[in-house]
Amino acid sequence: MGRVRLYLEEPLGEGQSVSLTRDQAHYLFGVMRLGPEDGLRVFDGVSGEYAATVAEAGKKRGVLSVGARTAPLALPPDLWLLFAPIKKERTDFIVEKAAEMGARRILPVATEYTNTGRVNRERLRSHAVEAAEQCGGTFVPEVAALRSLDRVLADWPEDRRLMFCDEALAGEGAGPPDTPGPWAVLTGPEGGFSDTERARLGGLTYAHPVSLGPRILRADTAVVAALTLWQSRLGDWQ
Ligand code: SAM
Repeated sequence: MGRVRLYLEEPLGEGQSVSLTRDQAHYLFGVMRLGPEDGLRVFDGVSGEYAATVAEAGKKRGVLSVGARTAPLALPPDLWLLFAPIKKERTDFIVEKAAEMGARRILPVATEYTNTGRVNRERLRSHAVEAAEQCGGTFVPEVAALRSLDRVLADWPEDRRLMFCDEALAGEGAGPPDTPGPWAVLTGPEGGFSDTERARLGGLTYAHPVSLGPRILRADTAVVAALTLWQSRLGDWQ
């Protein structure tokens, strides 16, 4: 079956033939050097993972034959990551780690001290796809459009709790309460959270301020630490 895994946007089923895009053909046949009859695994993010074989291989095109399902869809816990975007490459890193570490949804949020005005959703989506292909996941988290933190909080789903990573708590405070259910994690930009934001978040019944240890972590490090803390306490790492 081979170790190569490919995410395909269309719904998959046994016996299907799938035509590849130019980029997919380049990846499989140019980069991974697969050829006719070679095996790989494909997944669609909704129905699971399947064995597949190369039926046709060309420079700019190709066709795969989809075989038996090899794994059911494994949804990650209902955990959203809200993060303030930072420099391009480090934002790419954040999305890649969030996909590997089991975020269900990824929401870039603009906070008062965020100095990145826009995010490239398509590029971030491709990082999430690559991370899922690499880590054996069968699900690809959505990367939402950049919105202000205020707007995201204004539309907040009432059953979802928020683990607010507050750098002002460095060295104090405990982790999230042991309360199962839908959650979100929030981390700030290099400049941290403003006092206004801190006061607003502190007043939300569903928000739980937490420390990520005694040292001030970089914004991207904080995302990894926060996801590790949540997953090991409330997620699917137990
Ligand atoms: N400019 C801030 C300062 O000097 O205090 C640092 C912000 S830090 C680079 C970026 C984000 O990571 C913070 O807004 C927070 O969400 C998170 N973070 C970093 N270290 C943390 C800690 N020890 N406890 C809680 N959150 C932390």
